[in-house]
Amino acid sequence: MTHGEFKSPRTYMVRLPHGADLIEAIESACRDRDVQMAGIMAIGAVRRATIAFYDLDEKEYRQRTFDEPLEIASLVGNTSLRDGELMLHAHASFSRENGEVVAGHLASPTEIFATEVRIDVLHGKPLERALDDVTGLTLWGGTL
Ligand code: ZN
Repeated sequence: MTHGEFKSPRTYMVRLPHGADLIEAIESACRDRDVQMAGIMAIGAVRRATIAFYDLDEKEYRQRTFDEPLEIASLVGNTSLRDGELMLHAHASFSRENGEVVAGHLASPTEIFATEVRIDVLHGKPLERALDDVTGLTLWGGTL
């Protein structure tokens, strides 16, 4: 098991720029504030969204872009480090006008229409992602 212990000294509430990529914009908002570890939540709307589903047997993401306006019904994730660089890992549920939901691992391109993000800063030794041989994913602490 890998874990970190953190104190949460502050929370930022940030409106992200129209037209930007959602992952890049959240990562940029964190970097601009010298944030490495954080809990992330967001709501808003996008012009298109890309989500991925991880095939456990093939050990690869199956990615799909929905080229339509969608509400961000919920987005939950975190930031940590991979190769020393900040990396967002987030999952999101996007809803259509009729209430249908598409959801999964957030990927790019996902184009922001309007998005408000909550960044809960976590102070402590940052967790580092590394390849986990068992799952094929980049997980905190790598292979255990
Ligand atoms: Zn994921």
